[in-house]
Amino acid sequence: MECFLGIDIGSISTKGVILNSDGVILASSYLATNGSPMEAVKNVILELKEQIKEEDVQIVGIGTTGSARKLIGTILNATVIKNEITAHATGTLFYYPNIRTIIEIGGQDSKIILLRDQIVTDYAMNTLCAAGTGAFLSSQASRLGVAVEEFGPIAVESKHPTNIAARCTVFAESDLVHKIQMGYKKEDIIAGLCKSVAMNYLNNVGKGKKIEGPIIFQGGVSKNIGVKKAFEELLGEEVITSKVGHLMGAIGVALLAKRSPKRTTFQFQFSMEEFETKGVECHRCPNHCEIISVRKNNKLIDSWGNRCERGELKIRS
Ligand code: SF4
Repeated sequence: MECFLGIDIGSISTKGVILNSDGVILASSYLATNGSPMEAVKNVILELKEQIKEEDVQIVGIGTTGSARKLIGTILNATVIKNEITAHATGTLFYYPNIRTIIEIGGQDSKIILLRDQIVTDYAMNTLCAAGTGAFLSSQASRLGVAVEEFGPIAVESKHPTNIAARCTVFAESDLVHKIQMGYKKEDIIAGLCKSVAMNYLNNVGKGKKIEGPIIFQGGVSKNIGVKKAFEELLGEEVITSKVGHLMGAIGVALLAKRSPKRTTFQFQFSMEEFETKGVECHRCPNHCEIISVRKNNKLIDSWGNRCERGELKIRS
């Protein structure tokens, strides 16, 4: 059977799906990137392989998206390499053709995509501030001694969410410590944190955007029902979440590979020997991003880890 592989390589997690020609998911994988996209993709492909009968599946199209899409696309000989906005919009419209707003919060970044009549009309991304992301929630969870997966169920128990300063990580953290010292209940603090993530998102990435329903919330943080509830209260609208919301980029780019006339062959293995990897630290601002670049025959194939374009200039210089 002809099938399509989609891979979404993010800074925190790497996702993969295999779709059949009707767009049905035959296999899926979601793993931590752990700073090594190549290793993460290798493991994702191994997990996908375990879920199918190889002799029944013939991969004829491959799509890659996410921060290391060019590198992984080159290694896998992808037929389609697309940015996250296009991939997420395509995946979401496949399941929800009427959607008008996509709220996406991942491990280290967030984005908003506005659609009208199934066309992307506006979008914004935030990669610089961690305050409204999964990484922020994870670090606050360990400070409170609670597993981040328990945040949602605990948050919805709260009757009086406390206010946590939402405008940046540093303020939010010091406010959190203050609230713990003041003796606020754990569920009220956690509900306050969930609300601060939603507020930070709306005040930064969603600033000036006309957010209209139907609204879908996806990305790893969408699994947190406390943040979903906070968005619904702040927006006064129902916010949809999907069981496959965390895979939407990979699904979208697999669908784009299906629609493309280009075809390829794939044997569930790849070699990384010809690729040379180098890490540098950018000191052009206090973020001190660690940037990894990959070259093949001295030609720059891809780089990741930089939170702005100035970092890209550094590895080219
Ligand atoms: S890439 Fe460099 S300039 Fe850009 S955010 Fe990172 S450290 Fe700052």
